[in-house]
Amino acid sequence: MERIRVVVSGAFGRMGREVVKAVAAQDDMVLAGVVDKAGVGEEIGQVCGIKPLGLRIREDLAAVLQESRAEVMVDFTTPLAVMENIKVALEHKVAGVIGTTGLTDENLEEISALVAKTEKGLLVAPNFAIGAVLMMRFAKEAAKYFPDVEIIELHHDRKVDAPSGTALKTAEMIAAGRRAEPTPKPAPLEKINGARGGEYLGVKIHSLRLPGLIAHQEVIFGSQGQTLTIRHDSLDRSSFMPGVLMAIRKLRSLKGFYYGLESLVD
Ligand code: NAP
Repeated sequence: MERIRVVVSGAFGRMGREVVKAVAAQDDMVLAGVVDKAGVGEEIGQVCGIKPLGLRIREDLAAVLQESRAEVMVDFTTPLAVMENIKVALEHKVAGVIGTTGLTDENLEEISALVAKTEKGLLVAPNFAIGAVLMMRFAKEAAKYFPDVEIIELHHDRKVDAPSGTALKTAEMIAAGRRAEPTPKPAPLEKINGARGGEYLGVKIHSLRLPGLIAHQEVIFGSQGQTLTIRHDSLDRSSFMPGVLMAIRKLRSLKGFYYGLESLVD
């Protein structure tokens, strides 16, 4: 079988570099192009600290997709850039593996409608680490018995969107799993604005941004005389790569819109 031709969008970024290294190391994939707004003209192998790959970073995604005969685009860019990149990929009949977070429900609906008009597949996954997928699944299960729950998500200080896509997805899964409403709480008297965090679907979410962190989350359930904490830590960006590589392999031949890595796993 022909090797899968992959273009990485956001290749100069932290996640993009990791994807470049992972794809370049696969026997069944070819890194066919690299796109970013930053680092334009730089040789991507050197940027990533591996052997030269003979590919320079370019800015024009449409041109790269066309000239490279790409089959799959992997996108780790920014919430502002990703919608346009998805549209360009679908216009060029290229499947999408989208890791960029910060997409709204409206964005997801729009993407789903765009994908439905094509013969291609596209996955949006807020978290490619299998441990995080399991954390969300376990949280959904626990929510059946513990309706009172709060989420603390912790990320590196360069992350722009808050709360994280993983925290939002976890809250959605908790809301889907709950059998009872959370216990009513007294109206908070916040001495500092935002001290009680944000709220989504009845779940409080607290976002920490600190140097030294990568991506971490605690889901804390409380009940009479007990708490249950489910925690996941991505200690290194390589934790996301098995999920990204699996998605590239599956998306080459799948049609339709998928949300969450679990939609491909199960
Ligand atoms: P990053 O280091 O800032 O990298 C993003 C890169 O995309 C930057 O080089 C940026 O250039 C570039 N970019 C901006 N607009 C672009 C465009 N229109 N076309 C191509 N490239 C463009 O960020 P990161 O830490 O790698 O994270 C990237 C995204 O992945 C974030 O949304 C993050 O939350 C998400 N993420 C997802 C997962 C997951 O498992 N799904 C895991 C970790 C992170 P400039 O610096 O010039 O803007």
